[in-house]
Amino acid sequence: MKIPDKVKIGFKDYVVNRVDGPVISDRLVCYGDITYDTGVIRLQNVDLSEDMEQCAFIHECVHGIDDVAETNLTEEQVEKFSKGLYALIKDNPEIFKK
Ligand SMILES: [Zn+2]
Repeated sequence: MKIPDKVKIGFKDYVVNRVDGPVISDRLVCYGDITYDTGVIRLQNVDLSEDMEQCAFIHECVHGIDDVAETNLTEEQVEKFSKGLYALIKDNPEIFKK
């Protein structure tokens, strides 16, 4: 999987920024975060395996989908769903090709 510099989620365009250090969001250290109003996804760029970085990207995208779909998922639901979605994408790359 290639993490893009920009991603469109529903009607919103997001810029994907890599951060050279831990992402701190609401005083918690995490691997990434998403700001809906400004359209920014931040991902920790250091000390993360490729798998963790990609999983963090999918996690923030699921938050973005939750925002446009107004599904009001909890953080735990986003975590579990994004792990499943990441595995689906990673394990089945052929389904996304024409
Ligand atoms: Zn989250």
